[in-house]
Amino acid sequence: MSSVIFQLLAVYTVFTSSERGYFWHLTDLHLDPNYTVTTDPGKVCPSAGDQAVTNAGKWGNYLCDSPGSLINSSIYAMKTILPDPDFILWTGDDTPHVPNEKLGEKAVLEIVEWLTTLILQVFPETKVYPALGNHDFHPKNQLPTQNNSIYYRMSELWSPWLKQESIPMFQKGAFYSEQVMNIENVGRIIVLNTNLYYDSNSITANMEDPGGQFVWLENQLSDASQKGEKVYIVGHVPPGYFEKKRGKPWFRENFNKRYVEIIQKHHKVIQGQFFGHHHTDSFRMFYSTSGDPIGSMFIAPGVSPWKTTLPGVANGANNPGIRVFEYDRKNLQVLDMVTYYLNLTFANLESPRWEKEYRLTEAFLVPNGSPQSMHKVLEKISKDQCFLQKYYEYNSVSYDLETCEESCKIDHVCAIREVGFTKYDECVKNSISSLKPVSHIATMMMMMMLCLFLK
Ligand SMILES: [Zn+2]
Ligand SMILES: [Zn+2]
Repeated sequence: MSSVIFQLLAVYTVFTSSERGYFWHLTDLHLDPNYTVTTDPGKVCPSAGDQAVTNAGKWGNYLCDSPGSLINSSIYAMKTILPDPDFILWTGDDTPHVPNEKLGEKAVLEIVEWLTTLILQVFPETKVYPALGNHDFHPKNQLPTQNNSIYYRMSELWSPWLKQESIPMFQKGAFYSEQVMNIENVGRIIVLNTNLYYDSNSITANMEDPGGQFVWLENQLSDASQKGEKVYIVGHVPPGYFEKKRGKPWFRENFNKRYVEIIQKHHKVIQGQFFGHHHTDSFRMFYSTSGDPIGSMFIAPGVSPWKTTLPGVANGANNPGIRVFEYDRKNLQVLDMVTYYLNLTFANLESPRWEKEYRLTEAFLVPNGSPQSMHKVLEKISKDQCFLQKYYEYNSVSYDLETCEESCKIDHVCAIREVGFTKYDECVKNSISSLKPVSHIATMMMMMMLCLFLK
């Protein structure tokens, strides 16, 4: 009898020790309301700028931001794949890549309203944690540190989701913190306005702590620690470097340094960081001063397929991506991550088919999404050409299937490993100097053939 009770207890313990929850991460929708399916290559989408757009399809084009049909399709795909998530992280950038004079405050707010209404219609019961992107303001990137009409209107639009006490916070600086699922003593989601740290934001350029957000963040993290809570940090513009362009960070150096120091100091309570802005699928590692993996940041791919015009980036488009995280409801540990995508070429030729691209633990053979596991993923990417190539193809959401050679590998591995400016520079420099001149191209080609063979 006692053994039966023991077995029941064991089953109960296994069941309760990892209570699996699910949430969506959605980012960089970039609606282009003027996207038109036409054979006139100059009239398809304003977001393509001067580029000629040929083969404009119903579901979008790699030179353009998202047509409404693509965004609709992505939100309804979420509803089909996981209709009842615990919550949704929505990390901003809603408007098209067009000059300020072609947009304006009214258009920005109308686009955010359109998207908010759509998400509310499809997920009426779901809690959404929205964050502002650098494109969710007029003029773009110039997000201020005090009350203004845009923060005010956004807080009205998002009032079905935000808690009452978050609204004045949001109106002042567009950052806030709420308990996960409104459950006491489990954890909290801290939504940051990291556009205040963006080097394209001239308003905050000479400030030490724009909006007092760093001090507030530290207080939040100390408070969480005292209460035994765990934390997710959510934002749009991430710290560190863009993996598709060597030496390209987004934060100003002093802000980047302060962010890294805060993560290092408070890492015990931070179970994950979730950002967008890159439109690519990547991650970042944070290490203690003694080199132990203490934190990871997940950068989710965008819905917009828009090919970046950032000088120096070759072929920087992506397939539209959406992402589910699986996590432990009791302590917010990241258990797994599944990315779904739309092959845009296929969608335009046949029909829109959202499919699983990959599951983190299956693709990289790691137990979960903890910093230790993500460190292992990085080790695999940096040491094994097959894993590097797999990561590289996922990076553009299976759009760019070219071989990631030595220079590409340095850009990606150093960006993932080193979020700090000095260490990133050292990583790039040391990696270049350790390049082997011996016919590495031939070796790489052989490795690639082996990868294809093993697929
Ligand atoms: Zn974006
Ligand atoms: Zn952005």
